[in-house]
Amino acid sequence: MENIFKNILRITIIICGLFYIVIYLSVGLYDLNLEGINLNLKSNHLSEQKKIINKDTELMLVNYEYGLDEEYKPKDLTIPNIEFTDEATDEEKHVSGIIVKPLEELVNEAKLDGITLLGNSGYRSYKLQKKTYGSRVMWEGKESADDYVAKPGFSEHQTGLCIDITNEDRYFVKGTKEADWLEKNCYKFGFIIRYPYGKKHITGVEYEPWHIRYVGKENAKSIYNNEITLEEYLKNNHIYGGLNE
Ligand SMILES: [Zn+2]
Repeated sequence: MENIFKNILRITIIICGLFYIVIYLSVGLYDLNLEGINLNLKSNHLSEQKKIINKDTELMLVNYEYGLDEEYKPKDLTIPNIEFTDEATDEEKHVSGIIVKPLEELVNEAKLDGITLLGNSGYRSYKLQKKTYGSRVMWEGKESADDYVAKPGFSEHQTGLCIDITNEDRYFVKGTKEADWLEKNCYKFGFIIRYPYGKKHITGVEYEPWHIRYVGKENAKSIYNNEITLEEYLKNNHIYGGLNE
């Protein structure tokens, strides 16, 4: 009698599991297909008007208007000698060769000030971004996903020039000593807080105190001192036409 009950329970669990997998896959594929249609429309438009600015340089611009194609990959991806979180995948530990030394210097300098910064997510391939975006849309809806996760091709992480930093508490928000240190000091090493507070109308992204982007020391200093974004900096230097132009 007990065995029959156990068997029924086992079969029920298996059926529920299979049902869950089928639903999960079909919803996921449906979302990605929808995105595929949108992206195709957008990239057709891009190929006519928005050519990537400063490709392969420290001032390369990737934002919601300027996207990279599926094949783009930085040439010299390297894992920097810094501490990473356990969640960081092997791919995400890589960054573009040009930022390795400045990043290591930044993390070491923080350490001297008693601040522990951990790498969380550096380079992300088009393929990984597609997966991340798709699952975010599925769990939180498109509106919330669009606020925090870029569509594949439109993430700066595909350039290898940026990295998300966190702290040991995995609570990297304004007011924590780690986030405040990073905001005040990263420009000295050629990095900027890429998505500052109150600049979403320019960057297209909500405030992200953890996302730093390498632009080189001179550029970073000027952006920091003038309290502007990369978009505004490029516009001021007549490299970029500005939004909606
Ligand atoms: Zn980021």
